[in-house]
Amino acid sequence: MSEQGLIQVLPAHVANQIAAGEVVQRPASIVKELVENAVDAGATRIDVHLTDAGRTLVHVIDTGSGMSPADAVRCFERHATSKLRNADDLFALLTKGFRGEALASIASVARVDLRTCRPGDAIGTRVQAEGGDSPRPEALPATPGTSIAVRDLFFNIPARRAFLKSDAVELRHCLDEFQRVALAHPDIAFTLTSNGQELYHLRPGSQRARILGIFGARYDERLVPIDEDTDVVRVTGFVGKPAFARKSRGEQFLFVNRRFIRHPALHRAICDGFAGLLPPDALPFYVLFLEVDPARVDINIHPTKIEVKFDEERTITALLRPAIRRGLGRFQVAPALDFDQEASLSIAPLRAGTEVREPRVKVDTTYNPFRGSGSSSSLSSSLSSSLSLSSSLSLSGGAVVLEPEIAPSPSTSRAPQPPSSSPSPSSSTSTSTSSSTSPSTSFSTSPSTSPSTSPSPLPRYIITPVASGIVVVDPHRAHARVLYEELLARHRDGEGAQEAGSGVVAQRLLFPEECLLPPAERAWMLAERERLMEWGLHIEGAEGGVRVLAVPAEAEASPVELVEAVVGAGDVEAGMDGEGRWERLAARLARARAVRPGTVLTAEAQADLLDRLFGCEVPGLDPFGRPAVVTFTADEIRERFT
Ligand code: ADP
Ligand code: MG
Repeated sequence: MSEQGLIQVLPAHVANQIAAGEVVQRPASIVKELVENAVDAGATRIDVHLTDAGRTLVHVIDTGSGMSPADAVRCFERHATSKLRNADDLFALLTKGFRGEALASIASVARVDLRTCRPGDAIGTRVQAEGGDSPRPEALPATPGTSIAVRDLFFNIPARRAFLKSDAVELRHCLDEFQRVALAHPDIAFTLTSNGQELYHLRPGSQRARILGIFGARYDERLVPIDEDTDVVRVTGFVGKPAFARKSRGEQFLFVNRRFIRHPALHRAICDGFAGLLPPDALPFYVLFLEVDPARVDINIHPTKIEVKFDEERTITALLRPAIRRGLGRFQVAPALDFDQEASLSIAPLRAGTEVREPRVKVDTTYNPFRGSGSSSSLSSSLSSSLSLSSSLSLSGGAVVLEPEIAPSPSTSRAPQPPSSSPSPSSSTSTSTSSSTSPSTSFSTSPSTSPSTSPSPLPRYIITPVASGIVVVDPHRAHARVLYEELLARHRDGEGAQEAGSGVVAQRLLFPEECLLPPAERAWMLAERERLMEWGLHIEGAEGGVRVLAVPAEAEASPVELVEAVVGAGDVEAGMDGEGRWERLAARLARARAVRPGTVLTAEAQADLLDRLFGCEVPGLDPFGRPAVVTFTADEIRERFT
């Protein structure tokens, strides 16, 4: 035993397996490497087929250069690459691959079936390579291009296979990689199918058309083009209008010389370009391409080449912010008025020119509610009598709805009118100052006479006396809390025993509604159909989106809004898994279902809501952690009067 010594050279296939760990982490890695090879081969069309999110099969077919029979065998050797002849070439690289590691690595952890033929060759080559066995070539009828099928990933490394996530998550990763390459090469036609279902069908076209092909036509109105050229770098691409920024990652694409990269400093510089235009934690959409001299960027610092170093990093960083600003400025993207609803809850969105004043509470200072009877009912009546409230205020069963004072201005609550058509003589100034201060319009007296037909975007509070003082409840947030806890309870029940009828009551739609979705979100929704059904949202696949068949019983939002609430915050793209994710989904769904801010509830509805709210685990906060209830103790109130 000792004769052999301690050092043993690893057999090649073991070395490859270890190296493969760097290159092949999951099915998505294979998608990336194969699609990049096809791009490098000059393909005009690339078709990707996935089975079981790629764990059973990743098949990529291209119309590229193909390989000679000898190359078809050699490409499985480690460090076999046609793209690099010597170390200097590293600094002039415009191809995706160059390490010559991918195919060797993939063949060491999966079963590979390569078919290839150069245009003009009379005969093609097929090479099968499996788990690091030496490849076996055979002749094949000629079909120009290359087809590589990778089956049974990690069939020989059960431990790695066990580490793969759910199909939904793995598919998400595959689609991410696919998107990145497809975004960078709008001149190449791409398709992608998953278990036989076509998720992407991308025709060659403009950069803009490619973005729409991937994210859906609804992005058309969101895009702002960027184009800046300097000595060091050219920046082109698109950013999303600030109004469409989302709170989570997943829609940020930065490319250097058409290679997708992650670069926190550049990301920050891009976000800086949006300074003042976004809510603090929102992230802008962007698809930006930097073109730099390949000699001035080092892409070799990471095996999957996703991180890079620039010589002129500071210069590039400094250029990005103004490039974005100028682009946004050129398209007159004003600060957004309608961020994600989330923002409208903490700070109600102000339409330009609308004047909002604090609710005014007139107090009869001579009245002391604590003199004489101290019972809560007298506190209630004394308060309601001393609050000066608008005529729309409803007084019922001890609960009061207080409506904050809004001054709608004619120029904003209606479609803008040319000055000549306006009846008011003072209307030549389009500012809101003249009319909004008049007392008759300082309260929106009732929804029907309000110039805007939508309910007030500001919350109306339920004020109700309790033993210790008074509580003020925001009905929208309170309702969201109630629905949120119900959803989570269903979710937990659903996971244990799958007994029928445990889901949220669903209401079948008389007319199913279709909702257009980008392919990735569509795929995610269909994969999670069962879970969503437990939540009362019944969907099926439809052309370019999903069809909503039933919605949860208590739902203010439209079917389409419910779908958008579920997919809409970018978590799907971020590929997040686990409980936290479902909690966030539940929070968003609850928010969409909850009564809208500004809705006036009937007395029974108020009482019902308060009952349910105070039966919650955390009645004081909405699902996003913001206050749903504010309490004023008798002591606090007394103090305010001294
Ligand atoms: P790299 O891309 O880093 O060169 P790979 O292991 O991915 O390394 O590929 C090895 C070689 O196989 C490539 O350099 C290329 O010559 C050849 N090759 C791989 N895929 C294709 C393809 N789809 N079409 C033509 N040639 C290919
Ligand atoms: Mg490669």
